[in-house]
Amino acid sequence: MSAPEGGPGRFEVDRLTVTFGGVRALSEVSTVVPPGELVAVVGPNGAGKSTLLNAVSGLVRRQSSGAIRYGGKALHTMPAARRAVLGIGRSFQHPPLVERLTVLDNVLAGGFGGRDYGVLAQLARWGKVARSERAREEQARSYLDFLGLSELAGAPAQGIAYGQRKLVDIARALMGRPTLLLLDEPTSGLGRAEHAAMADVLRRLMERGGITILMVEHHMDLVRETATRVLGLQAGQVIADGPAREVLDSAEFRASLVGATATPPATRGETAQ
Ligand code: ADP
Ligand code: MG
Repeated sequence: MSAPEGGPGRFEVDRLTVTFGGVRALSEVSTVVPPGELVAVVGPNGAGKSTLLNAVSGLVRRQSSGAIRYGGKALHTMPAARRAVLGIGRSFQHPPLVERLTVLDNVLAGGFGGRDYGVLAQLARWGKVARSERAREEQARSYLDFLGLSELAGAPAQGIAYGQRKLVDIARALMGRPTLLLLDEPTSGLGRAEHAAMADVLRRLMERGGITILMVEHHMDLVRETATRVLGLQAGQVIADGPAREVLDSAEFRASLVGATATPPATRGETAQ
């Protein structure tokens, strides 16, 4: 499987505020992510982590002020479709697969920008890429292979395990050849063995290169194993932002993680919830 064409750009969030009615989900959030980093977005439930991903992918747009830039382009004014064309892909905490379709067809559905991006993105991507059906299928199979799912290609999505659904959703996102990949809780609902498999997938994605990953993740052992940077959010505000080790080992950050306060750094199984 080859890395995406063109490299990732610099990703920048500048005083992003998102409000839902009276709720301030994000409040003046700023961060800069150099290309090729794996940023773990961590923080308690309700901190605004998913909202940040939604603001980047374009699912949340009108409720926000501030700026989001990728590769020098202002994203926050763009519809989700155009962001997909610029190389932004995402997976979902609860993968929205089409149950009656096969795993392969679900992955192929992502080739035009993904179901969440709508018809415009599909057309835009179709016009831009215009790969033959066969080449697209080969591509989809190569992602399934990369994620260890080859044997499930012909299986209906409804029959597969939850951990496999998460991986199929990532394969679907990869079909858009993202250079900025947004992952919302890739290990939520998974068992220990599946955590290891996900960590391996993340490592291999980073090794393959050409990608920046922004990952919401509660499991601190996975964060410690895979992230190069950590962005800590609490009540919609940035409470930590820096190289992963530095942030994870800082007493201040650790004290802010509810449930992790009494856990020494090397302990496995700590979470940010
Ligand atoms: P996290 O992913 O960190 O758990 P979220 O980003 O989902 O947090 O939510 C942050 C805050 O914004 C919460 O108070 C949540 O209830 C609120 N929120 C998120 N999405 C919506 C929405 N679509 N409508 C109203 N409130 C929302
Ligand atoms: Mg969330």
